[in-house]
Amino acid sequence: MNCPGCYRESKGTGYCKRCLKELFNGKRVNHVLPFNSPYNEESDLYLDLTKKISISGVQIKYPMKLYDRDLIPTATGGQYILKPIPSGPLRNLDQAPANEHLTMQIARQLFKIAVPPNALIYFSDQSPAYLVKRFDVKPDGSKYQQEDFAQIAQITEETHGKNYKYDLSYEELGELIKKHISMYPIEIEKFFRLVLFNYIFSNGDAHAKNFSMIRTDIGDYVLTPAYDLLCTRLHSPSESDMALALFKDGFSDAYNAHGFYTQHDFLLFGNTLGIKKERVTKIIDEFRKNEAGTIALIKRSLLRDDLKELYKQLYLDKVSRLNLKWG
Ligand SMILES: [Zn+2]
Repeated sequence: MNCPGCYRESKGTGYCKRCLKELFNGKRVNHVLPFNSPYNEESDLYLDLTKKISISGVQIKYPMKLYDRDLIPTATGGQYILKPIPSGPLRNLDQAPANEHLTMQIARQLFKIAVPPNALIYFSDQSPAYLVKRFDVKPDGSKYQQEDFAQIAQITEETHGKNYKYDLSYEELGELIKKHISMYPIEIEKFFRLVLFNYIFSNGDAHAKNFSMIRTDIGDYVLTPAYDLLCTRLHSPSESDMALALFKDGFSDAYNAHGFYTQHDFLLFGNTLGIKKERVTKIIDEFRKNEAGTIALIKRSLLRDDLKELYKQLYLDKVSRLNLKWG
């Protein structure tokens, strides 16, 4: 069986040693939870939580705690977040946990993007959920100070209306990194890589709240690990390519000619962010030249077969755009 954490082949069932170590400090936690999904559970396991947890959109997230070798829902001191199948009008939502898990694993295993330890896990009724370790909780239970880019830019629903999360460009997020992060030459490259990743893997919901900064132990700020990465096209076929525009002032001639972003736009974007051209080209090339590895990982994933195919087609389509040069 493939490990439901990293897809590597492992002896027996459940998580491999490496995933157990990363996720649970080596405790042998089962990949099947000893209770049902919120849709089928008859006990009052979730009841105390539904009043306290925040509900964002259609995705309910449960804070979880490790108790000996068992993960249990908890009202306080959550070390993990559990995301069961969301409900709502979008397509293929039963595949959302596998989609998010695959996208996070591709980011990490193939594109050097820092992500928190994560895995697929199953309820007793076999329904899947996405499990991720929180990165804002210190070992002693206290929290790191963290702010998303909407907070940093001080834009809210009151100041910018209902769509405020979508009211900035990626260029402006880059400006916030330069302003607030002293080590910004390193962090700005991470940011560029992540924006490009979101484009190539059709994550159309990477808005200002899906990027955050966190305060380190020595008191400076860095970007947090990436979170909420998934191919949103599987669920929302008509969604735009990116949640935010790359540039604050309009579109390039190449964009106007093609109707979508190509290599030219990402070269411009890297330049606008102040990254050296050799570095930008190197990162773009990583995305252009990782097809075999990416397709292999999609195949090993736990997505339904027809969605593996769609995921792959969407990815190849974006890579072909990234191969388009201009002038
Ligand atoms: Zn593993």
